[in-house]
Amino acid sequence: MRQPAVRCQEFVELVTDWEEGALDDASRLEFEEHMAICPPCVEYVKQLRLTRAVLRGAAELDRRGPSAPPPAARAALLEEFRRQRGNG
Ligand SMILES: [Zn+2]
Repeated sequence: MRQPAVRCQEFVELVTDWEEGALDDASRLEFEEHMAICPPCVEYVKQLRLTRAVLRGAAELDRRGPSAPPPAARAALLEEFRRQRGNG
């Protein structure tokens, strides 16, 4: 069995470009070839999409649009803000 052209690490790095259609034909073919032989990476893409859908849903509920940071990031920012004010 020959080595896959795209290894899992590279696959993960290419996912966003692939979804945006930013890969050139050769890279896209290698990417899709890897997906055909590597179920864990297919699973990874599914999880990524699910996570994004959840984040998008949260942003819409928030009524601040898709550019609002996800709730966890916002909580961290607020925490940081509070700490800085506490010190000042
Ligand atoms: Zn893989």
